[in-house]
Amino acid sequence: MLSRTSLQIGRTTARCVSLQQRRSATYLILGKPGGGKGTISKKILKSFPSFLHLSTGDLLREEVNSGSELGKKAKDIMSTGALLPDQIILDLVQSTISKSGSPKNLLLDGFPRTLAQASSLDEMLKVDHVIALDVPDQTIIERTSDRWLSQSTNRVYSYSYDPPKVKGICDDTGEELIQREDDKPESVLKRLDTYRAETAPLNEYYGDRVEVFEGETSDVIFEQVEKFVKGVGE
Ligand code: ADP
Repeated sequence: MLSRTSLQIGRTTARCVSLQQRRSATYLILGKPGGGKGTISKKILKSFPSFLHLSTGDLLREEVNSGSELGKKAKDIMSTGALLPDQIILDLVQSTISKSGSPKNLLLDGFPRTLAQASSLDEMLKVDHVIALDVPDQTIIERTSDRWLSQSTNRVYSYSYDPPKVKGICDDTGEELIQREDDKPESVLKRLDTYRAETAPLNEYYGDRVEVFEGETSDVIFEQVEKFVKGVGE
């Protein structure tokens, strides 16, 4: 599996190396599902606009919403909390990076998520810093059951800290809020299991490039992340 992936990715290595040369840093944000990677990423982008944010979860949800062939395939897998095959993800990342022009810095969110993906990424780009979010399982279970969204705009509400004015209704569009299929309790437990088996080993893989941030709220975590990014340089 790994060598097939590497071979296929190898065909485009030359173009990726030139992408690498035009970037000053690649950051990876790593952590449990529902652990605030998306929220911390948004805050990083606000403070450091030079980053290109690449979230494989967001890219896949766009495919699902557009009804593409990939989206149809992704929908069922995502709703169970399992991972998509590595090659599909690698193709998606490859084409997004190629189309992205030359932003100064890259912020990877939700990718790589397996050792095979990390090994293929090494052939494209060097990851300089890993921002690892350490959030207790219980916080994640409570947070995901609280997270609801507006389907047409993708605006995310949290009943605990960013509730809509009227329960269950989007402030902007008036439509009924929905829960992400994979935020339903049985999927969240499955996603946590998948994280432990497939993604947690990346902490060891990246070794001393990993910086761990702990905290129960994104605001507390982000204060430390912001200091870190300012310290090591964008
Ligand atoms: P979370 O990190 O909270 O699980 P994401 O939005 O990053 O949320 O991912 C949602 C789902 O999309 C995952 O559960 C998985 O099914 C799929 N997915 C996202 N990124 C990857 C990836 N790198 N490899 C395989 N599947 C992925």
